Amino acid sequence: MTSHRHWTFGDTSLQRVIESEGPLLSPFEIFPDCTQAHLDANRNWLVPRFQDAASGLLTITIQSFLIRRDGLTVLVDSCSGNDKETRARPQFRRAQWPWLERLREAGVSPEDIDIVLCSHLHVDHVGWNTRLDNGRWVPTFPNARYLISRREWEHWQAAGAKALERTGDYITDSVLPVFAAGQAELVGDEHAVAPNVSVELAPGHTPGQMMVRLGEGGAQAILCADLMHHPLQVRYPAWSTRFCTDPGAARTTRIGFFKAHADTGRLIFPAHFPTPTGGTIARDGKDFRFTFCGEDHACCGG
Ligand SMILES: [Zn+2]
Repeated sequence: MTSHRHWTFGDTSLQRVIESEGPLLSPFEIFPDCTQAHLDANRNWLVPRFQDAASGLLTITIQSFLIRRDGLTVLVDSCSGNDKETRARPQFRRAQWPWLERLREAGVSPEDIDIVLCSHLHVDHVGWNTRLDNGRWVPTFPNARYLISRREWEHWQAAGAKALERTGDYITDSVLPVFAAGQAELVGDEHAVAPNVSVELAPGHTPGQMMVRLGEGGAQAILCADLMHHPLQVRYPAWSTRFCTDPGAARTTRIGFFKAHADTGRLIFPAHFPTPTGGTIARDGKDFRFTFCGEDHACCGG
C-alpha cells in the first residue's frame, strides 16, 4: 500500500488515503449481468488480485483522494466513516478505521482541508464528512467548504427515506450536519474548483455524480468516482451495478468515457479500484483494457 504514494500533474499533486481494501462484494450482488461463466473466462487475471479465491468476493478499495495545489488542500470523498450506527452493511456499522491517522501520515490534519468535494452522496463516499462529538455529528473538517452537486442533492431530497432502505440512513448523520453548520455549497454540472482542478457531470450511477479533472496538456488525470467499480467493467463496459440509480444512463456514460479517454495517456482513478488504483485505458481490438500505473509505464511521482 505504500508504493505510488503520490502523483503530480503539472503543479497539482494527488495522493490516496485508504480506509479499507479487500474482498467486499459478491460479483453477483453487484453486477446483475455477471454469471459464473464470465468469472471462469477471466479467472487468470481476476484471482487473486481482483477476486478472493476462498470467498469469491471482489476486491474493493474504499478511499479518499487528496489534491494539493499552491497551498490549497482538497479532499475528494470521505469513505464510510467511524461510529455510524444506522448502516445495513456490517462493514460500515460502528466502524473504527484509522483513517484520520492515515490522513495525518499524509501530512494533513482535518483543519487543513479547504474543500471537501463529494463526488456523489453514497454511503461509502460521505462517511468522514462528519464525526461523533459528545453524541452529536459535527463536520470533521471545520474549515472546509463541502462542494455537493445541486442535481445530486435535489435527487436525494426528493427520493426520501425509501431510497436509503438498502444502506441505512447515512444522509441524516453524514450530510445534513454539513448543511446545518453552513458549510455545504451546491455546485452546477460544471464547476472550476481551482486552476487545473474542475468537476464535471458523470450521470447514471447517481444523477449528479461528478468526476474531477486535474492538470492540463500532457499531464492530466481524471478521478471518475463510481463510473466503474471493478476492472470487470473494463472488460464488460455494458455492466452497470445494482447500486446505480439509472443503469442505462450509467452504461452510456461509461462507454462514452472509455471512447473519449482510451489511448490518450490520461491517468484514470476509479474510486474503488485496488492499489495502485490509477491507470490508463487502451483500446484492445473492439474491447478496452485498463493498465495500472507501474505495470508498463512509469508515471508516478513517488
Ligand atoms: Zn462507491
